[in-house]
Amino acid sequence: MKIICIGRNYAGHVKELGNTIPKEPLFFLKPDSAVLAHRHPFYIPNWTKEVHHEVELLVRICRNGKAVQSEFSPRYYDAISLGIDFTARDIQSQAKENGHPWEKAKAFDGSAVISKKWYPLDSFDQDWESLSFHLEKNGERVQSGSALEMIHHVDSLIACVSKYMTLKMGDVIFTGTPAGVGKVSGGDVLEGFLNEESMFRVNVHGE
Ligand code: ZN
Repeated sequence: MKIICIGRNYAGHVKELGNTIPKEPLFFLKPDSAVLAHRHPFYIPNWTKEVHHEVELLVRICRNGKAVQSEFSPRYYDAISLGIDFTARDIQSQAKENGHPWEKAKAFDGSAVISKKWYPLDSFDQDWESLSFHLEKNGERVQSGSALEMIHHVDSLIACVSKYMTLKMGDVIFTGTPAGVGKVSGGDVLEGFLNEESMFRVNVHGE
């Protein structure tokens, strides 16, 4: 299973980091070793001074697909969930300055929170894209959004990614984060909500 993460997919977040909006979706991978085990705390690695939370809607790939055309994308995903793309922002900034890849900042152990709960797309009365999600840090809402605000919507994300690499059943797409990313510290509690329902709770340990 691979994890494909989309970068710069919400205008508010692109702006807060001073980036430009990409014409084609920007993506990178996390290995399966990045997945944080359920109910395990997140330990801030000792080689970074600035880990940020990025709450993201997740999409599950349900069949193998290569060079999928956008209009056929809905056949390739069947469920959504919520997660966090933990990012060592200081390391990522250095990598960006040097033109280096982002893996050290994005693909480390524990950097992918994936909720245990997955919702089949046909389980919602309303259009799933209009569902809201948000992240609370120590009980305070810090990030919120919905798929309607995405710059590149899921159907075009699937078309774009599958142009370069085959999507396989069980792969997960992190669809990008809305504005409000911020630093986490030891003692923080992060709780993610989809459609006002709690999807995960993560305790942060470390500096
Ligand atoms: Zn992200």
